[in-house]
Amino acid sequence: MLFDIITIFPEMFSGIIQQSILKRAQEKGLVRIRIHNLRDFTSDKHRKIDDAPYGGGPGMVFKAEPLCRAIRAVSQEGLEAKKIYLSPEGDLFCHQMAKELAQESHLILVCGHYEGIDQRVRDTLIDREISIGDYVLSGGELPAMVVVDAVVRLIPGVLGSEESLEVESFSDYLLDYPQYTRPRSFEGREVPEVLLSGHHERIRKWRRKQSLLRTSQRRPDLFKKAILSAEDIELLKDP
Ligand code: SAM
Repeated sequence: MLFDIITIFPEMFSGIIQQSILKRAQEKGLVRIRIHNLRDFTSDKHRKIDDAPYGGGPGMVFKAEPLCRAIRAVSQEGLEAKKIYLSPEGDLFCHQMAKELAQESHLILVCGHYEGIDQRVRDTLIDREISIGDYVLSGGELPAMVVVDAVVRLIPGVLGSEESLEVESFSDYLLDYPQYTRPRSFEGREVPEVLLSGHHERIRKWRRKQSLLRTSQRRPDLFKKAILSAEDIELLKDP
């Protein structure tokens, strides 16, 4: 899968894409991530990519011309590209959306800054706008990193068996269960006995129950969407 990220701060990505799972996914050849400096696509001799908003008001707006040129240049890969603008006005990003995006072969992510980008680019070239939450960040770089990270880990073959997707939070609208590691006793707090029992079936049921309880308490909105089995209902009844 190919990711093309258009930004005025390309250096912001160097740490994150060269570490951990994103690094491994690229080394395995499952993912390519290319970072493009928007300033490389302007015909302005001062490499200016923004201008004051028509109608007045504070801040600057990304000009349509360099942005269109950048999007068109990176689209020419022979792949069907989904063009995304990271925007606080977009659809709220979630696990299901990450799953949908993981089916694509080419994502182009446009990171805005200042007051955002010229509306005409949004109207003509952008397929989807995505927000990572109801707050305003200074730029689209952090949201782009969030989207890339969440999508890449869903691409088959990216995670090793030790990091299975099956039991992660949101995989079936349930949050993850509590995790513990050595030592058995820490500052007077013990690891739940069942996890030391070596009894796989009891451990599975305990984890499932914790997951159900945690979701119902912390995220009743998610819990409503979860499809509960007969066993889940029994587990919840069990004191
Ligand atoms: N004037 C814009 C508004 O009120 O909606 C805010 C622009 S913001 C300061 C600059 C850029 O950050 C946006 O163009 C967008 O790319 C990015 N951005 C900020 N908050 C975001 C969020 N919650 N999700 C996705 N992108 C965001």
